[in-house]
Parts: sequence; C-alpha cells; structure tokens
Amino acid sequence: MAEKVDCAVIGAGVVGLSIARELALAGREVIILEAESAFGTHTSARNSEVIHAGIYYPTGSLKARLCVAGRKALYGYCAERGVNHKRIGKVIVATDDTQLEGLKKYKKQAEVNGVDDLRMLTRDELAELEPAVISTAGFLSPSTGIIDSHGLMLAYLGDAENRGAALVLNSPVTGGAVESDGIRLEVGGADPMTIVCKTVINAAGHGAPAASRAIAGIPPQTIPTNYYAIGHYYTLTGKTPFNHLVYPVARQDWLGVHVTIDLGGRCKFGPDFSWRDGLDYRFDEGREARFYEAIRRYYPGLKDGALQPGYTGMRPRITGQGQEAVDFVIQDHTVHGVRGMINLYGMESPGLTSSLAIGAYVGELVANDRS
Ligand SMILES: Cc1cc2nc3c(=O)[nH]c(=O)nc-3n(C[C@H](O)[C@H](O)[C@H](O)COP(=O)(O)OP(=O)(O)OC[C@H]3O[C@@H](n4cnc5c(N)ncnc54)[C@H](O)[C@@H]3O)c2cc1C
Repeated sequence: MAEKVDCAVIGAGVVGLSIARELALAGREVIILEAESAFGTHTSARNSEVIHAGIYYPTGSLKARLCVAGRKALYGYCAERGVNHKRIGKVIVATDDTQLEGLKKYKKQAEVNGVDDLRMLTRDELAELEPAVISTAGFLSPSTGIIDSHGLMLAYLGDAENRGAALVLNSPVTGGAVESDGIRLEVGGADPMTIVCKTVINAAGHGAPAASRAIAGIPPQTIPTNYYAIGHYYTLTGKTPFNHLVYPVARQDWLGVHVTIDLGGRCKFGPDFSWRDGLDYRFDEGREARFYEAIRRYYPGLKDGALQPGYTGMRPRITGQGQEAVDFVIQDHTVHGVRGMINLYGMESPGLTSSLAIGAYVGELVANDRS
C-alpha cells in the first residue's frame, strides 16, 4: 500500500527548503525528499554566496522581480533568525572606455528593476573606496551583501521542521505517475517506498528535468533539456586588498571574473564559464593563466603565485551553447496540465538571493492550484 502524503518537495537545496518552509508555515504537511545523505550539497553549496541587489536581470522577468523582493526579505530574515551575513556593498567597474556603455546600461536596468540606491562614483571616490583597483568609471551598489548559505538553509529547515515538516535523506525520486487520487512517487535508496501526494514540488536543481521525465503524465514537451555550465573559483592567499565586492563589466554571458569576499574575510575570484557534458565538479587547473589575465585588468597588483585553486559550481542551465540564458522557469498546471504539480527549472543565479521570494511565489501557486 502506498502511503498518502499531503505535500512532497523533491530536493533539499536552498530553493526546495525555502518552499518547504513556506508550505509548512501555511499549515501543509510536508515531506522533503533528498537524494544525497545531507541537504544542500550541490548548487546551494557551490556558489558565490552573494546577496544580489537585482541589477542585471531583464525587465519584468522572474529573476528581476524575485531577486529584488527576495533580497529585501532576506536581510530582514537573516537579522531575525541570526543567519550570518554582511551588507558589504559592491563596486561595478569599467576598466576602459569601451565598457562605459555597459556600465550605463546596468544603471538604467537597475532603476527599471527597482534598485534605486546605485551611486555613480567619480574616479577619486573609486580610488578611495578601492585603492587596489584600476578603473575608469564605476558605481556602488550599497545593498549587495554576502551570506552564509549553509546557515540560511539550516534556518529554513528549522522553520519547516518546527511546523512538522520532515526531511528524508538518501531518498532519490526515481519514478512515478499522475493518477486519479494524486501524484505517485517512487522513492529509491536503502528503504524504497511509494507515496501518493496531493502536491509535489520538483525543486531538484540539476535533477529537476530528469525527475519530471520519470513521472508518467507530465507532458515531455514541457520538460527542458539540462545543460551544464561550470564556474571555477580561485582563492587569493593572504589578506584581501579589497573593501567591497568588485565586479568588472560583464563579458558575454557571465559576470566576468569578479571579486567576492567571504564572511571570514577571505577573497576569491570567479566564477568563470565553460560547458561540461554532465554534472562534473572537477577543478580544471588549466584555467589559471586566464584568471591572472582577467583579474590583472582591474587588479594589476596581483602577484604571481597568489592564486590557489578553490572550488567549482555548476549552473543548472536549460539553454545550451550559443543560446541566451533564460529566466527561472516555474511551471504549474496552467503550463503542464497536471493539478498539484509544480516544476522548477533553470534555477541558477540569483536563486540564493531570491529563495524567500521563490518560496512565497510557489506558495501562492500551490494555494491557487487548490482553489
Ligand atoms: C557558480 C554559481 C554561483 C552562484 N552564485 C550565486 C550568488 O552569489 N547569489 C545567488 O543568489 N545565487 C547564486 N547562484 C545560484 C544559486 O546557487 C542557485 O540558484 C541555488 O543554489 C539553487 O538551489 P536549488 O535548491 O534549486 O538547487 P540545489 O542546491 O542543486 O538543490 C537541488 C537538490 O535536489 C537534489 N536532487 C536532485 N535530484 C533528485 C531526485 N531525483 N530526488 C531527490 N533529490 C534530488 C540534489 O541532491 C540537491 O540537493 C550561483 C550558482 C552557481 C552555479
């Protein structure tokens, strides 16, 4: 006999945990199914840990809306729940005159997105704020910050568990079907089980398209192909010469090799961008020369030997090489025709910043689904 479950969330990354929290706070009985032996070991543990202001994203996109709303909510939540974070601020810099246009575009897009606190900096101000950086122009984003992503996930999980939610580890969703009395899920692992759920949220990150494909009844044409775009981080040995995060104007489809400072005061550079065939976090040390070259465009003081291989992260892309990155894709029955099923695809940056707002957004879709 299959066990009846009110609501199952597939995936215990920052997105799945935020959604589980939201649903548990709304009084739903929630089970979180996680394939790994711990929560948050994939993209949510392999990112820049930046609270983004919401500058770059296209007008009206979910990324723009959920990032700005999520960032505002996140600062309040972190303060209330004691999640370690810092509103450190970020300077975005042009390193030559050809990038001035890019800088102006960012400023304009930020205003459209409701990021109204950017401040253009004079060359003198830039030199005073970031003496190690050479730049021709730039602006300051005071509301950009850094966060302990593990601490954030722990807080989401704590809130959810306090309202009765259960996290079940080593429990990959391997199959299922849309049936008359709910959505059946086959859960593998050491203790396989079958459950029938009123509501299923597929927040499996890289595994989300595969999880959808494994559930008979979800129209295959609504399920995107996933692609894997890796980003490498190098760490800087010694004391950080920077006071803020430093982002050069973006090149092509990534934000350039930028400077991030973690909550321990350590400095890292990245992520870069290249394609992989599958989920493969191996660090390619052959990228070092390109990092030195890109960083020295704005930080000429970088000494030979100062960079150490750090870690990698993989963007859960749903568009491939030569195609533009797309918006977050969050599908309910109006897209795929299955009542009670919500699928989240392409949850790359700024998914961490947006997580509370994604939780609220999905919570609303679920409430409307039942009405
Ligand atoms: C290089 C990089 C840098 C980034 N930097 C930032 C940043 O600075 N700021 C920001 O806001 N965002 C950033 N992001 C984006 C952010 O990290 C992601 O949007 C967010 O972590 C996605 O969370 P998630 O829960 O969707 O995915 P994940 O964290 O990957 O979680 C998905 C979970 O689902 C589980 N799973 C998979 N398949 C199954 C299955 N079949 N059954 C059960 N469980 C399954 C996995 O084990 C995993 O735990 C960055 C992303 C990358 C790649």
